[in-house]
Amino acid sequence: MTDTLHLAGIGIGPFNLSIAALLDGINTSVRFFDSKPEFSWHPDLLLPGASLQTSFLKDLVTPVAPTNPHSFLAYLVAHKRFYAFLNAEQRAVSRQEFADYFSWVARRLPSLQFASGVSDVVFERDHFVLCIGEQKIKARNISVGTGRRPHVPACCQPHISAECFHALEIGRRQPDLRGKRVAVIGGGQTGAEIVLNLLDQQWGRCEQLLWLTRRPNLQPLDETPFTNEFFTPEYVSAFQQLPWQRRQRLVAEQKLASDGVSPQTLTQLYQRLYRQRYLDGSADLLQLLPNRELMALSRDQDFVLTVHDALHGDHSQYRADVIILCTGLSDAFPACLQSLRERLECDEQGRPRLDAQFRVGWDGPRHNRIYLLNAGRYSHGVAEQQLSLMAWRSACVINDLLGEPRFDIRSGGGLLDWQTPAVTEAVA
Ligand SMILES: Cc1cc2nc3c(=O)[nH]c(=O)nc-3n(C[C@H](O)[C@H](O)[C@H](O)COP(=O)(O)OP(=O)(O)OC[C@H]3O[C@@H](n4cnc5c(N)ncnc54)[C@H](O)[C@@H]3O)c2cc1C
Repeated sequence: MTDTLHLAGIGIGPFNLSIAALLDGINTSVRFFDSKPEFSWHPDLLLPGASLQTSFLKDLVTPVAPTNPHSFLAYLVAHKRFYAFLNAEQRAVSRQEFADYFSWVARRLPSLQFASGVSDVVFERDHFVLCIGEQKIKARNISVGTGRRPHVPACCQPHISAECFHALEIGRRQPDLRGKRVAVIGGGQTGAEIVLNLLDQQWGRCEQLLWLTRRPNLQPLDETPFTNEFFTPEYVSAFQQLPWQRRQRLVAEQKLASDGVSPQTLTQLYQRLYRQRYLDGSADLLQLLPNRELMALSRDQDFVLTVHDALHGDHSQYRADVIILCTGLSDAFPACLQSLRERLECDEQGRPRLDAQFRVGWDGPRHNRIYLLNAGRYSHGVAEQQLSLMAWRSACVINDLLGEPRFDIRSGGGLLDWQTPAVTEAVA
């Protein structure tokens, strides 16, 4: 059937973009679809000063195809920026520059189709059918990369409005915070970046700033060498073979390997607050409250926040005019797969169960594959939701899709032995 694609990608975030970039030039019929009018990477949270938490070498292609024309280095050279980039000696690339790199690649790939939201996917005999408005796209295999959704605590859900919103929307909402009492909820990287921008009066000079985090302190992202071993293919392979309970526990234990504030951001913030208190002589604007969890939110003229203090075990109340939720993202079952949901294999928590090749098990033909990206935190480990192993995962998917080792996915690993020989033999 000539009009049936070999692979249809749903969602064009960085993860499917990486697959599209690595498939560019390979003779197979593929097409990727996204509801947005053009590529963008979390555009409403592209704050001034926000930087990448990952090495720029872990781009769309380099870890598995260092000579591929869609690399970050190729972008720098094409933009006549290579020497200046090196001279700038940046510890971390800005998110703005990496987003521009992604967009540059997206503009060069003929396999991408924007303004094409997939509302449903059904299976007919030997192929999937993607519904995009009136358009029906047939594909033997699909790769679903529709991302995660903003997490909104239950007590905030009834209050979502121009005065209470998730940080991922701040660019779209452009709040006027002049003279307002603002509460920021959440002590991760986004919370820190929002607070820094509030102190810089990005949305006007607020009157008071309250920053709550249930974490015991502002905790740094652990980017040290041995922790970075969790972000190697070898660790992922070892992790994948562990019993489910142990994987759950490890993901919780390794939280700060993927979810903390960059040490540079913490230093910047501390220096900013020091200057404000001791040198500028300005009144303290920010009240920083660790160990505090927002338990209830009510609204009269303003918001009343009921907060639990985990250190002392008591509750207190605070008032604010605007609430900014920096409460992260949560896994979302892709809405476009609802029609297939009953047919997918799920784990004890109802999450799709992925195999080593990132396929979800299902009751349809084995040669019609459903690849799920950004859905394997509990099957593949903490690296799954980061850019770190994106190119390697794409190569695993492509090798499986093509049925041949097109990319060498044996990385040589890190310095730690994650598998004992006995386990390796048992698995082989
Ligand atoms: C602000 C922010 C900063 C981050 N910074 C880093 C970092 O520095 N380093 C790191 O390793 N990780 C980072 N991450 C984590 C992760 O790398 C990103 O979230 C990344 O964008 C995930 O890519 P994705 O392709 O899974 O999803 P997304 O980027 O969320 O893209 C999903 C795409 O799917 C489309 N879509 C959804 N449903 C449909 C549908 N039905 N039909 C068609 N299209 C659809 C959406 O329009 C969207 O374009 C960051 C995350 C955030 C939120």
